[in-house]
Amino acid sequence: MNSLSPQHLIRFSARTQDLHPSPIREILAVVDRPGMISFAGGLPSLDSFPQFTLEAMPQHMLQYGASEGEAELRERIAADMQGLGVKCSAEQVLILSGSQQGIDLVAKLFIDPGTPVAVEAPTYLAALQVFRFFGARFVAYDVGAPDLHTLQQEKPAFAYAIPTFQNPSGRCLDASERAALAAACDAADIPLFEDDPYRDLVYDDCERTPVCAGLQQAPWIYQGSFSKSLAPGLRLGYLVASPELMPFLTRLKQAADLHSNRLSQWLVLQQLKNPERSRQLVALAGHYRQRRDAFEAALRRHFSDLAVWQTPPGGLFFWLTLNRRVDTRLMLPKAIAAGVAFMPGESFLPMAVDACGQLRLNFSHASSEDAESGLRILADLVREFI
Ligand code: PMP
Repeated sequence: MNSLSPQHLIRFSARTQDLHPSPIREILAVVDRPGMISFAGGLPSLDSFPQFTLEAMPQHMLQYGASEGEAELRERIAADMQGLGVKCSAEQVLILSGSQQGIDLVAKLFIDPGTPVAVEAPTYLAALQVFRFFGARFVAYDVGAPDLHTLQQEKPAFAYAIPTFQNPSGRCLDASERAALAAACDAADIPLFEDDPYRDLVYDDCERTPVCAGLQQAPWIYQGSFSKSLAPGLRLGYLVASPELMPFLTRLKQAADLHSNRLSQWLVLQQLKNPERSRQLVALAGHYRQRRDAFEAALRRHFSDLAVWQTPPGGLFFWLTLNRRVDTRLMLPKAIAAGVAFMPGESFLPMAVDACGQLRLNFSHASSEDAESGLRILADLVREFI
């Protein structure tokens, strides 16, 4: 029972006890302040969005639609997945209102209070938020290094992984790490939940074959998003799952929101059919590659003596490990007061830790001038702390 005021006793569900605010949403609330330089969110750059027009949209797109999504869009996605080596049909595709919805549906399907869930450490903080809300107990493993023995012992309900341009670490699993993850899920008979929103933002040559393509028997859910490759405001993503999971996921989708926005689905379909699409993706990746390189040059100027990092071969983030294990959450209010926002590393860890000395920096949003001055301010602050 939660009480808001003596007059109003409101009975919330027990799971509401685990409903914590997302640190990123709270930071995003301040980054709109004039003059703030934000390395915090994973915001695509505004100039990367295509021009959309609704002029030719058929009127029936304003009608209620199928929960599974528009048939033609599902067929295209299934064909693309087959091209990536994932055996599936259009019936195995469910259109989502953003891939964040897939995380919610999967959590609803698998998690009761106390259910073990395998996650990478670090991992996407808004997935941790959802899994926690449903009462998950985390079985954490280092990115790319699942421990089969632990998985077999703990028997998690599923393993959540972001093998390609991981959020927040930027890591892209190589072929043998991908094979090892698939083999671990098969051997421990654990469903794999593969989250893949960044795959199109590729800057260096690297292995990107979905891990679920290498599974022999474990059930799987793969999800993708149009947020990074087209525009996040469309709120459109999709999941593709092994056939035995589809009826359950579809019912959960029906209960959640009936179906995803048909205008967005139509707009996305037009973009996917556009013969210029693959050229546009190459241009998009080229644009972000330049931003990454400029950002890294600024990082080298300001952080060489303070932190180590690996160049992310794709995606939107640098993951810095400072020379000292300071609590970067304590740095954040000072950074914001100085006009720079970043994401403290502790928020991405499934286990509570005192201090990890790591931080995530988004490189796609700030201009190169802002990146230069923001990193200089941040480096001065880090020097104070370490
Ligand atoms: N998964 C991961 C790993 C993400 O980083 C994000 C957001 N950036 C999402 C899912 C959700 O994205 P969306 O709902 O916009 O598709």
